[in-house]
Amino acid sequence: KNAYQDEYGYVYGYLDLNKDKTIGLIAHMDTAPSFIGGCTDPLFVKNYNGSNITLKSGDVLTKKEFPILNDLIGDDLLFTDGYHLLGGDDKAGIVIIFEFIKYLLSNKNSSNYNISICFTIDEEIGRGPDKFDIKKMNADIAYTLDGESIYEANYENFNAASATIDFYGVNVHPGNAKDIMVNSILAAISFNNLLPNNMIPSKTSDYEGFIHLEEFKGDVNKTTLKYILRDHDEQLLENKKEMLIKAKEQVLEEYKGLKINLIIKDDYKNMGPYFIKHREALELINKAYLNSKIKIKYTPIRGGTDGATITYMGLPCPNLGVGDFSPHGKFEFVSISQMKKMVEILKNLAKN
Ligand SMILES: [Zn+2]
Repeated sequence: KNAYQDEYGYVYGYLDLNKDKTIGLIAHMDTAPSFIGGCTDPLFVKNYNGSNITLKSGDVLTKKEFPILNDLIGDDLLFTDGYHLLGGDDKAGIVIIFEFIKYLLSNKNSSNYNISICFTIDEEIGRGPDKFDIKKMNADIAYTLDGESIYEANYENFNAASATIDFYGVNVHPGNAKDIMVNSILAAISFNNLLPNNMIPSKTSDYEGFIHLEEFKGDVNKTTLKYILRDHDEQLLENKKEMLIKAKEQVLEEYKGLKINLIIKDDYKNMGPYFIKHREALELINKAYLNSKIKIKYTPIRGGTDGATITYMGLPCPNLGVGDFSPHGKFEFVSISQMKKMVEILKNLAKN
């Protein structure tokens, strides 16, 4: 009742409990395109004893490679068959929301909020909030359920920009090239070498931003570099853009006759600054965890979240964990025990 799919594919639902305020819960239906979906024969491990896990494909999850397993001893876990995604990102979020709604339908007095839900699409290709409608959502505060451990929540994400740089060289026969040829490949290499070599994804963590070279394609005539720039701090992201502009000027200086076209585009913003002033959504999380006797830790997302865009649409939307781990590949698994705990935490959230 009161649930429908809109013309874009988003599913909205509303549970009216005659309250003044509404909490929104959001999860995404799509799964990562980076690996094959459709795991119909998952591996269920009851009361995990801490040993290595051998999937049906023969692939092994060791605690050395997946240290998170150390925290999950005693949990009921569900692994893939080794050939497919599990799709727990974000089906785990959807299951948690359904379990919570099921509970509320038979315990209508146990919530101090109306509940609205939205199951979104296209999250994994970065277009989740494109057609999301905060009017249809009709909530005062919302949460995406799309994180990993339920012991962590997030209200900070990267500020993101991307850059495309085209280098145009001058090509002539290499035998007659002296003082004439301008090799755009070499110019592009020089350009990249001017950027700080420790400011890359494999050498940064926590709040450290990066400039990530995603694509390098070219020949003597034309070479194209594509970068993504990330930083939790807005000013530090601006500084990274400056580094590209300075590197461009230096390379132009060095390679006479070279032309460079540099385009920088802003992609998404950190929602963190919003929550410095607007604490209510976080205070509800804190109280819910306190009443569940579970410690909550806030960690910065080293990526984006649909909640960031939704927050800037005017609906504050931090992210909660769902117990799904190492997503986007064959080593994905969920803790069913954590999923059940998350349902209990939502019950306490609604009781606030
Ligand atoms: Zn997800």
